[in-house]
Amino acid sequence: MFNTLPASALEFADWSWAQIQPYYTDLQNRPLTADTVNAWLADWTGLEQRLQEAVTRMSIATTLDTTDTAAVTRYHTFLQNIVEPAQVTENALREKLLASGLKPDGFEIPLRNMHNEAELFCEANIPLSTQEQKLSNEYQAVIGAQSVQWEGEEKTLAQLKPLFQSDDRALRERVWRAISERHLADRPRLNELWQQFMSLRKQQATNAGFGDFRSYRWRQFARFDYSPADCETFHAAIEKVVVPAATRVYERQKKLLGVDSLRPWDLDRDDTYPPSRPPLKPFTNVQDLIDKTGVILHQVDPELGAYYDIMKAEGLLDLENRKGKAPGGYQSSLGFVKRPFIFMNAVGIHDDVRTLLHEAGHAFHWFEASRLPYFQQWNYGAEIAEVASMSMELLAAPYLSEKHGGFYSESEAAQARIGHLEHILLFWPYMSVVDAFQHWVYTHHDQATDPANCDAKWGELWGRFLPALDWNGLEDARVTGWHRKLHIFEIPFYYVDYGLAQMGALQVWRNALSDRPAAIRQYREGLSLGGTRTLPDLFAATGAKFAFDAQTLGGLVDLIESTIRSLKPA
Ligand SMILES: [Zn+2]
Repeated sequence: MFNTLPASALEFADWSWAQIQPYYTDLQNRPLTADTVNAWLADWTGLEQRLQEAVTRMSIATTLDTTDTAAVTRYHTFLQNIVEPAQVTENALREKLLASGLKPDGFEIPLRNMHNEAELFCEANIPLSTQEQKLSNEYQAVIGAQSVQWEGEEKTLAQLKPLFQSDDRALRERVWRAISERHLADRPRLNELWQQFMSLRKQQATNAGFGDFRSYRWRQFARFDYSPADCETFHAAIEKVVVPAATRVYERQKKLLGVDSLRPWDLDRDDTYPPSRPPLKPFTNVQDLIDKTGVILHQVDPELGAYYDIMKAEGLLDLENRKGKAPGGYQSSLGFVKRPFIFMNAVGIHDDVRTLLHEAGHAFHWFEASRLPYFQQWNYGAEIAEVASMSMELLAAPYLSEKHGGFYSESEAAQARIGHLEHILLFWPYMSVVDAFQHWVYTHHDQATDPANCDAKWGELWGRFLPALDWNGLEDARVTGWHRKLHIFEIPFYYVDYGLAQMGALQVWRNALSDRPAAIRQYREGLSLGGTRTLPDLFAATGAKFAFDAQTLGGLVDLIESTIRSLKPA
């Protein structure tokens, strides 16, 4: 009967639950044996692909035009009428597969994850996670409402950010203080929200039978391949080999600015990155961004370049900033046509070039992994996903100059590359503050429920990992940095993933420095395994070691620093 399913996700999107349900019922009723399991999985995949693509396309539509209320209604109606009942049935199908005891090829890891989900399932936690989602929305509302009066006009904090690229230090300090004052005005409200988050999280862990939220969260993320102790090893390695290198970056920044100490208004994102001076202007129209990125990607690898050409030809890139578009950038995977889609808000800055290369890496991952036969195999974790994207930023970097058909003069390209490599060095210490803070929070529940103790811990960690920055006299702003990290409020423990992925990406890049075709071959091989292997195996397949230690990290830091020395900036 499955050959009567619609031939496109668009058509499927118009189906009612009454039309769809018989297919699920058929899967539920069919006998499952070693002989039938492959056809059963293939049929389930056919159904899931259409459902997944329909819902993804509807979700994309809501971001392309946020004023399109019909698109929002359509999306929400589909979630409610189709996706919710489908989820209940899919849970039953998962249980059917687990109960069969069958182990289809390439299903070892998907089965492990299914077992995990079944074990974690706890009815009492469903309303709690809805409450948690509401708290997240409140957090977003508090942050989203932050604006300041600047020269007689109300400005959002994002609108003021470009001023940090000004040469006028007194101006930068004024902007920074205005923003900081606005942040601190929300301190009591954010502390209150924090306490609500803490008690909800503790309750969820208890309901699911865990002693603390950290061990519960670990299982929720299916982190079977590394432990909290590995994260602590990673923090210590970063303190030992990255912090001194980051301090050297800050020393160079001080010289560049001609200042005695680096104050927060000499930095940009997260109060840790120096902004690029002068700002790079890679393109003025988005077609240029699209075309030149294509030229660059073809030089990284002709076949990856060909994937990108498909996206271009099929209209799968929506990159220009327009009124009504949702903010930010993302890559989405269309399950039925097996194509990626990239959404951005490009305005002509270097960050747009970096973001497109990053999202292209995610897109290539999907091209490769979606060749696997069953949808359960297409689920890969954030750690390997970010290896795919961060590697592409590094692999493409040598082709950014006009000489290679890219965007910049030689010296501008060098400036862009130095900035990128310095950001990598500065990210790890900041990541360690964010991650170590959360390890402490969720293993010291009672203490961490008091925001004053959180402030003290954040301040202590900031001193440990970012000692080169001068926050003298700005103590309140310094210790409340955790208020400004949305991951801490909304997606606890999701952050170390980026740090681990960067380790993998740098190794892929290092391989490419000695033999690019071989390195790209391995990279693609690793991505093509989707979620069918453990994390150490996936890393190994891309040519990288899944590691936390100071020795591996130190080798990568040396490579970054020697590359920075070899580049001549503007
Ligand atoms: Zn990413």
